[in-house]
Amino acid sequence: MRDLVIIGAGPAGLSAGIYGKRAGLDTLIIEESGIGGGQVLTTYDVDNYPGMPGISGMELGTKMHEHAIAEGVEFLEAAVTGIEVAGNTKRIKTSKEEIEAKVVIIATGAVHNHLGIPGEEELAGMGVSYCATCDGAFFRNRVTAVIGGGDVALEDAIFLARGCTKVYLIHRRDEFRGAKKLVDVVKNTANIEILYDTIPDSVTGSDAVEALNVHNVKTNETKTLAVDGVFIAVGTHPVTEYLKGVVDMDEKGYIRAGEDCATNVPGVYAAGDVRTKALRQIVTAASDGANAVTSATGYINSL
Ligand code: NAP
Repeated sequence: MRDLVIIGAGPAGLSAGIYGKRAGLDTLIIEESGIGGGQVLTTYDVDNYPGMPGISGMELGTKMHEHAIAEGVEFLEAAVTGIEVAGNTKRIKTSKEEIEAKVVIIATGAVHNHLGIPGEEELAGMGVSYCATCDGAFFRNRVTAVIGGGDVALEDAIFLARGCTKVYLIHRRDEFRGAKKLVDVVKNTANIEILYDTIPDSVTGSDAVEALNVHNVKTNETKTLAVDGVFIAVGTHPVTEYLKGVVDMDEKGYIRAGEDCATNVPGVYAAGDVRTKALRQIVTAASDGANAVTSATGYINSL
């Protein structure tokens, strides 16, 4: 039986791995994609991780992964399909094998929300994208639209504006949710046009995106924007479907856990974006990894 199994290799999972090994625990991280780093890999500029000004998400995620490997954390590339709790033993069912552990730390993070508008699914990968840093280069010298008003939408608009002739930033309110520093950059970028109070209605195109239809929620005015790409950045939802009935979750599927990362099941912890918390950032995810291992060590010592 393993001491510690961590599900997910984003900043929370990798931090838990590093702290786990340093606490002398036999530690395994299970990651479905086989790539360490998580969501941060798709962030262009991180810029708010202490000590790392200007670092790209790819570099920071890769460094965290390399750090965990250097500490001796073991990795398994597999999908976790469920967890069974039998007394003090946690059985983790994966696409490859079943693993027993004293402690499980859930760090599966979150994935992109979809809008659910006509044309979105049909044109996904043909101009509709959820990752500007992954797909932005295909739209050099073209016109794109970004939907959303959080940090990701602002960052995506800034990133795309470097290569696109024009970027529409479409937000459903008249005030952005994202950081003021990013809002200032967006407002001072000549080829970004902000459409406030605007909601997308449909994406159209035969083989690829050709237009985005929108309407203003205050005036009801409709517009058809001729665009080659639509980048959707309307937040994320937690990856917890495989844990239904195992741990307590809120109505959105976030696992109920406080700063000690303890769930309602002894020996099962939730760290990072996957748990109920006020601020989902790389630095708070990394902090959760450390807290979860501290709680887990106390639990193991009490067995
Ligand atoms: P977010 O902060 O939840 O923002 C989502 C945005 O999408 C909001 O502006 C929201 O509008 C809008 N939205 C949601 N549903 C919509 C719909 N159906 N139609 C139109 N618009 C919709 O999500 P995020 O930008 O993905 O960021 C997620 C987390 O990661 C945040 O905590 C963020 O701070 C963090 N993050 C941090 C960094 C960094 O520190 N470098 C970088 C990226 C992300 P409303 O504002 O009206 O709700």
